[in-house]
Amino acid sequence: MGARIDPRKLTRELLAFDTVNPPGMERACALHLGALLEGAGFQTAYHEYAEGRTSLIARIGDGSRPPICFTGHMDVVPLGAAKWAREPFAGETDGDRLYGRGSTDMKGGIAAFVAAAVELAPKLARGPGLVLVITAGEEIGCEGARFLADRKLLGEAGAIVVAEPTANYPYVGHKGLCWFDIETRGVTAHGSMPEVGDNAILKMARVIGDLEHFHFPVENHAVMGKPTMNVGTIRGGLNTNSVPDETHITLDTRTVPGIDHAHLCKSLESLLAPRGAHVRKIVDVPSLYTEPANEWVQQVFEMCTPLLGGRPEPRTITFSTDGTDLKRGFGGAVPAVILGPGEPALAHQTDEWCSMARMEQSVDLFTTIIRRWNGI
Ligand SMILES: [Zn+2]
Repeated sequence: MGARIDPRKLTRELLAFDTVNPPGMERACALHLGALLEGAGFQTAYHEYAEGRTSLIARIGDGSRPPICFTGHMDVVPLGAAKWAREPFAGETDGDRLYGRGSTDMKGGIAAFVAAAVELAPKLARGPGLVLVITAGEEIGCEGARFLADRKLLGEAGAIVVAEPTANYPYVGHKGLCWFDIETRGVTAHGSMPEVGDNAILKMARVIGDLEHFHFPVENHAVMGKPTMNVGTIRGGLNTNSVPDETHITLDTRTVPGIDHAHLCKSLESLLAPRGAHVRKIVDVPSLYTEPANEWVQQVFEMCTPLLGGRPEPRTITFSTDGTDLKRGFGGAVPAVILGPGEPALAHQTDEWCSMARMEQSVDLFTTIIRRWNGI
């Protein structure tokens, strides 16, 4: 067996790199992980989708069969307006809790799979092996993962573990996310003579009324439930005594498998065309789903059972992940689970922390999953 890495120590090292996105700047963090993995026998490659926005791919194995993939993102969200009681980048601990921005989402997850990978490395060179995809730019639209998939830099994998915060419960997917900007235009006029203008806010009011009656092409999914739609922002009008000539809303839709986002955009366009509204897609992350009956998913459920004290139920999480782009990059038919040590409720929170006991459990669980894939 290879060197044993303490996942708590590695998480603390990763927390010390300020990868708050924006601006992200993941390069130094990627190089640190790359050096560690190279030392253990992995082949590494760095890919930047923009200056300093570095993703790392580390591989080991003989290519006889597709390797198993573990993935995590290095960027973290901003600290927020509320003051932290703990140092966000110092890795403070208190009892079982390791505090810091990114401890849960998701440097603790990266540290857990890197620790498992380094320890197993000497046994993985002869066999299908392992590929680690450690990305930049996940928090704002999965830019790093999309770049790797679009440029066909990922190579092969037979299954994906996305180590996002799930408190070590294996989830079989998540909804898609499709955001739109919708605009109405009119003609401005003095507020005392509205009849000579054309009011863009009134047009938008009718648009919103139409949206309340919108039906998604798939109304319900057996595991994910219903797709949703939320009008998140509205902006229009410059002053009270003018007829507004421009109004925007932004719309957040969360989709289930079977809803194609290009088709969704067309449906909204044709629904709102009679109102003269212009629909523009601004963020697009498709859903991720693996049938719970999939053989490997069933194996993962079995391997999680002792830890959870019972066999997991098929469930999906509420947030979206890099898993969608990686699955596409690996050819589309690859099963994926979302499984990691972080606490889902603490992601993006003030005084975010990760349980160190869960981190240790993840190392053991990931070790078991990698061993099983490699037959060792
Ligand atoms: Zn995350």
